[in-house]
Amino acid sequence: MVNCPVCDAAIDVDEDEVAEGEVLTCDECGSALNVVSINPIEVESADEEDEDEDEEDFDYDEDEEEDEDQDEDEWR
Ligand SMILES: [Zn+2]
Repeated sequence: MVNCPVCDAAIDVDEDEVAEGEVLTCDECGSALNVVSINPIEVESADEEDEDEDEEDFDYDEDEEEDEDQDEDEWR
């Protein structure tokens, strides 16, 4: 048994039935939970990793804007 880090609901998992790195889904809030440890069982929200990926996307957007500025100079 482990508690959801997002909504704190008890999730019924048997440590013999899950593997480290496995992704569970919380029955209460539907959050994807990464199993980071199995003895004892520890889970963390998989959504946190998604936020890191979004930050990388913002970096790409900045690069694209710089390219657009250069194109405008060529037209003038
Ligand atoms: Zn939950």
